Amino acid sequence: MIEFQRVSKVYTVGAVKVPALSDLSFRIGRGEFVILTGPSGAGKTTLLRLIYRDEVPTEGEISVLGVPLNGLRRAEVSALRRSIGVVFQDAKLLPGRTVYENIAFVLRVTGTPRREITARAFEALRAVGLSARAQAYPGQLSQGEAQRAALARAIARRQALLLADEPTGNLDDAMAAEVLAVVKDIWARGTTVLLATHQARLAAALRQRTLVLEGGRLVKDEG
Ligand code: ADP
Repeated sequence: MIEFQRVSKVYTVGAVKVPALSDLSFRIGRGEFVILTGPSGAGKTTLLRLIYRDEVPTEGEISVLGVPLNGLRRAEVSALRRSIGVVFQDAKLLPGRTVYENIAFVLRVTGTPRREITARAFEALRAVGLSARAQAYPGQLSQGEAQRAALARAIARRQALLLADEPTGNLDDAMAAEVLAVVKDIWARGTTVLLATHQARLAAALRQRTLVLEGGRLVKDEG
C-alpha cells in the first residue's frame, strides 16, 4: 500500500539546506492503521506530503497504492491524489456552504457522476455520524463536528487510503476522542489509515502500530 525505500528529504531555502527526513525505509500494508508520532519538527508532515506527492524526495523510492511515485506525469499525480483522502489540523471547510455542499462540491470537481453525488455524500456523513448536520454551516458546528465533516469529505470518494495530519491538534480531550473513534470506524470499514500526531498519550491509547520519528529518522516501529 505504501513503501519507502531509503527515502531522504532536504528542503532548500535560499542557500540553506534543511534536512527533514533521513534514510527512511518502511512498508505499510493494505488495511493497517498506523500512527506516526514524534515531536514537532520531526518530519511527520513532510512524510505525509511525500505520500500524496505534494513534495518529492531528495533521495530514495516511494510507492503508494502500487504506483512508484518517481517520474509521475501531471495527470498521474492528479489521479494519485484523488485516490487518497487527506485531513489536516484545521478542517478547511468552505464557510459559505453547508456540510452537505462541502462534500458534494469535492465529489463534483473530482468527476463523480451527478446522479451519485447525493448518495455518496450521505454515505460519508453516515460513516462519521453527521447525517443530522448535513444542512448546517461550518460556523454552526463544534470543532469536533467540523473535523468529522472534514473526514466525511476525505472519504466520500471511497478512497482506500486516509492520511490524517494532527486531526485532533486543535481539540479538547473529549472532542479528540470523538474524532479518533470516527477514524477507527473508517479503518474498521476497510480503509488503510496513517495518522500523524505529536500527542504521545493519544497515540499510545490507540494501541496500533506506531512509527516514531525523531529529527527526521525512524527511531521506532512497533505495535
Ligand atoms: P512535523 O510535522 O513533525 O512537525 P515537518 O515535516 O513539518 O515536521 O518539518 C520537519 C523539518 O523540515 C523541520 O525542520 C521544518 O522546519 C522543516 N520544513 C518543513 N517544511 C519545510 C519547507 N516547506 N521549507 C523548509 N523547511 C521545511
